[in-house]
Amino acid sequence: MALVNENYLKLPGSYLFSEIGRRVNQFKKENPDADIIRLGIGDVTRPLPPAVVEAMKKAVEEMGRAETFRGYGPEQGYEFLSEKIIENEFRPRGMDIAADEVFISDGAKCDTGNFQELFGIDNILAVSDPVYPVYVDSNVMAGRTGKVNEKGQFEKIVYLPCTEANGIKPPLPQTRVDLIYLCFPNNPTGMTLSKEELKQWVDYARENRSVILFDAAYEAYIQEEGIPHSIFEIEGAREVAVEFRSFSKTAGFTGNRCAYTIVPKEVMAYDSEGKGHSLNPLWLRRQTTKFNGVSYPVQAAAAAIYTEEGKRQVKEMIGYYMENARIIREGLEKAGYKVFGGVNAPYIWMKTPDNLASWDFFEKLMREVNVIGTPGAGFGSNGEGYFRLTAFGSRENTERAVERIVRSRG
Ligand SMILES: *Cc1c(COP(=O)(O)O)cnc(C)c1O
Repeated sequence: MALVNENYLKLPGSYLFSEIGRRVNQFKKENPDADIIRLGIGDVTRPLPPAVVEAMKKAVEEMGRAETFRGYGPEQGYEFLSEKIIENEFRPRGMDIAADEVFISDGAKCDTGNFQELFGIDNILAVSDPVYPVYVDSNVMAGRTGKVNEKGQFEKIVYLPCTEANGIKPPLPQTRVDLIYLCFPNNPTGMTLSKEELKQWVDYARENRSVILFDAAYEAYIQEEGIPHSIFEIEGAREVAVEFRSFSKTAGFTGNRCAYTIVPKEVMAYDSEGKGHSLNPLWLRRQTTKFNGVSYPVQAAAAAIYTEEGKRQVKEMIGYYMENARIIREGLEKAGYKVFGGVNAPYIWMKTPDNLASWDFFEKLMREVNVIGTPGAGFGSNGEGYFRLTAFGSRENTERAVERIVRSRG
């Protein structure tokens, strides 16, 4: 008899975006002529930069000729890409990352979901609330949590409430934690941390021998000077942090799949005798066993964002989305809404008007003005009373959506 992994049974059934999809489809069935604008799902809409397309085509041609054909590549990724990453992302900001500390993969979702495998089952983890659900669900599947309660929170996880009283940022945990998931710029709140704020987390982790799993998928959206792009800009972070990056939001790779994770050799986890073990060789072991690398054309395409044209095209694309973010943020602010984020991130986190519950505001916007966003409650209990809008739509739809949301206020 095959026994099921009962941890999977702890996960609540309805996934946020399928529930949104269900409600939108139902509404469309009842209102087939409604002109719906979606500012909900966190997916990019602009096409791949031309430099990326060219590089990918060229790489495909190489794969079709015997002299330049490539079979399995290194599991960790091609050095032509990891060198470019180090040269362009880390060295200019004064960070020293070695080539064998870069692990190229097919997504930050997989990496943030898989990395927990390196840790024992008894670790206590801390996550922000609201949170990107992958961090929680992957740990639930592994058996690192208890049951879920009526608020949607799992036993044994320490939830860090990102409330207005906390400046929509996670407070340091009140009880000791071993693994800390941080995401900045944040999805869903669009908030960032200053160097001083991030340093408090690094200090906490060093004092407690914890590990910070830092998701920097939106690093390229930072516009203001002085906001850290990487946790490794903070002194001592190499001892306690792993960083996840992705080409998905940076360069429109959500359908192309390429990301990377930085695992410094100094970062450790400890055995029952208190002896430290470097995570870098363990992650290498994990990846070489369970992963066979990202396809050559995709890695060649990713490397093209570091050419002169590639850099210009990526910058332009991010500028396009960030102009959308400004339109949403300023439009809603002017109409009297309270909004957060949208300055260094493609997400705007708005407080619902009249203390409406997130899902009630979702229904109101969908029914009255045909705009779809994401209910904050779907990201955690402290997301209740908030609503997420994304800057990933077209300019035209963004402008129309803002006008409509303002109109819905009456
Ligand atoms: C979109 C996103 C990612 C990127 O995931 P990929 O698998 O690389 O596409 C990672 N983390 C967060 C918080 C995201 O929103």
